[in-house]
Amino acid sequence: MLVDSHCHLDFPDFDGRIGQVREAMAAQGVTHALCVSVSLAEWPKVIQLAEAHENFFASVGVHPDHDSGDAVSGADLVERARHPKVVAIGETGLDYYRQTGDTEWQRERFRAHIRAAREAGLPLIIHTRAASADTLAIMREEGAETVGGVMHCFTETQAVADAAMAMNFYISFSGIVTFRNATELKQVARRVPLERLLVETDSPYLAPVPFRGKTNQPAWVRQVAEEIARLHGTSLEAVASATTRNFFDLFRRAKIVNA
Ligand SMILES: [Zn+2]
Ligand SMILES: [Zn+2]
Repeated sequence: MLVDSHCHLDFPDFDGRIGQVREAMAAQGVTHALCVSVSLAEWPKVIQLAEAHENFFASVGVHPDHDSGDAVSGADLVERARHPKVVAIGETGLDYYRQTGDTEWQRERFRAHIRAAREAGLPLIIHTRAASADTLAIMREEGAETVGGVMHCFTETQAVADAAMAMNFYISFSGIVTFRNATELKQVARRVPLERLLVETDSPYLAPVPFRGKTNQPAWVRQVAEEIARLHGTSLEAVASATTRNFFDLFRRAKIVNA
């Protein structure tokens, strides 16, 4: 039993393909998936996926790369988060790699998400790229620790992982950890204890080895888990059971569905 803790099945890549995606998941023992929101305009599609399928869950939030002009109101996030299939707030965070110039709007948006998560009592899904110092500082200032969450698609250093874990956060690895040149990330993945680790695909992006370059899908979270097992010198079953337990411990509103 494996869970894809982060995917974007509402993206056009999957239009008309959800049936196939679900069959492939079942064939690989991937029993649940969290459909992560990147904009409020597209959110109805995300929540519809979670409503239509018992083993799909949803988050609500606006990605740091999404249009700077789109103001995000915390009250709106909290209201949408009342939906019983919403299990987290995000993805949110900071991305200084794709956004340059004045990024104050990103920090404000991030703060609004953390406040909404605290008000809703839901964990956070955090995206950080080329911005780890500010990300950790804002998490600290806004008390992200009280709700916890996950640092998704982790590509940062051990020091950043340690700081996030100290604030009650899990570390989620994607297909990047399977890439042959990801030497440093593999070292980090080896040192994050299984009790703090999640696995994800970030579909449709970042297909793992041996599917690099293809449209990623939740079934392929298995390749990520296999790599984590190899790095930890343990079995796929041990990684699957630990990461599944972690997923349901963190996203408390998500219910296990017997597939
Ligand atoms: Zn992301
Ligand atoms: Zn994402």
